[in-house]
Amino acid sequence: MVTQTAPSPRTTKVFKPELVYFEPSALDYPKGQKIMEWAKKEGLPIRMTSSHNRITNLPGETDLQKYRMAKNTLVVGLRKTLTFDQSKPSAEYAIPIATGCMAHCHYCYLQTTLGAKPYIRVYVNMDDILQSAKRYIDERAPEITRFEAACTSDPLGLEHISGSLAELITFMADEPYGRLRFVSKFHHVEPILGLKHNGHTRVRFSVNADYVIRNFEPGTSTFNERIEAAGKIARAGYPLGFIIAPILWHEGWEEGYTELLAKIKQSLPQEALSDLTFELIQHRYTKTAKKVILQRYPKTKLEMDEEKRKYKWGRWGQGKYVYPDEQATALREHITEQIFEHFPEATIDYFT
Ligand code: SF4
Repeated sequence: MVTQTAPSPRTTKVFKPELVYFEPSALDYPKGQKIMEWAKKEGLPIRMTSSHNRITNLPGETDLQKYRMAKNTLVVGLRKTLTFDQSKPSAEYAIPIATGCMAHCHYCYLQTTLGAKPYIRVYVNMDDILQSAKRYIDERAPEITRFEAACTSDPLGLEHISGSLAELITFMADEPYGRLRFVSKFHHVEPILGLKHNGHTRVRFSVNADYVIRNFEPGTSTFNERIEAAGKIARAGYPLGFIIAPILWHEGWEEGYTELLAKIKQSLPQEALSDLTFELIQHRYTKTAKKVILQRYPKTKLEMDEEKRKYKWGRWGQGKYVYPDEQATALREHITEQIFEHFPEATIDYFT
C-alpha cells in the first residue's frame, strides 16, 4: 500500500553564507562586482584573499566547527583550469561553474574530493568557461556533446548568488551540438524558469526513499519542494529527469522505493511525462570516504560495513565498496519495474 506523505510545512531558504571571501581579480569582472554588492546588501562579513588556497583561519575551535564554517563560506574567484574533466556516464564533460556545497549529505563524494577545503567557490570568468565549452563542442560536432554542471557542486542552490546556470542555459540554447544537464537537491528554480533553453538543458532532481532523505540529507530541500520544482521545470518546457542516488539497502527499502516512484507519479503534471529520464546509482564508498564521513558525521546511520559489501577495484588504485551482486540486482530490478509501471515512456539512462 502506498502511504501519502503530508506536505512538509518546512520551507528551505536560499543559501546565505556566513562569510564571503573575494580574490581581488574577481572584482575586475561584472559578476564579481555584483556578488560584492549582494554581500554588502546582505550585511555579510567580507574578506579578501590572494588565493582560495590561502584561506586557513576560518572561525571555529574544533575541526568539526571549522568544517561547518567552511561549508558556510563562499569564495568568489576565477576558474583557472579550463580543461574539463570527463563526466561518464551522465555526460561527456563536467563544466565547472562552482565547487563545493552548503548541504550536509552524509554520503556526498565531495567529502573526499574536496578534502580539507570544503568551502563553496563560485567562478566569475564565465566567458572563459563558455569559450572552452565551445571548443569542446566544435571538436566533436556533428556529434552532440553533453556537459554536466553539477559534478562538483549543486549549482541550482547557488544560482541566486552567481547567476551562472542562467548563462550556461542561454549559451547552450544556441548551440545545435551542445547540451547541458545538471542535478539538484534544491527547489529554487525561479531564476531559470523564464529562460530561453530550446530544450537543450535537462534539469534533473535527485530524489530518494523517505528514509534516506530524512536521515542523510540535512540542509537540502524537502522531497515535496523538489517535486514541486520538478513540475515547474516541466511546465517551463525543460526536459526533466530524476536521479535516484544513492540507492541504499535499508530496512523497508522495497516499500521506500515503491512509495517514491508512486509519489513522483502523483505529483508530476502531464507535460512532464513524455520525455522523462531516470539515472540510478547505488551507494558505494571508499575506505578514505568512510573515515572522513565518520569524523564529520560521527552519529551517522549510514551503513558502511565491508563485511556486507563487494569490493570493486578502481582504475586509480583505490577500490570501492558496492553491494554484492544479489543485492544490486534486487535493487535494480525492483526500481526498474516501478519506474516502468508508472512511467512506461521513460528512459533509464543507466544503473551503476
Ligand atoms: Fe553533496 Fe549534493 Fe548533498 Fe550538496 S546536495 S552535499 S553536492 S550530495
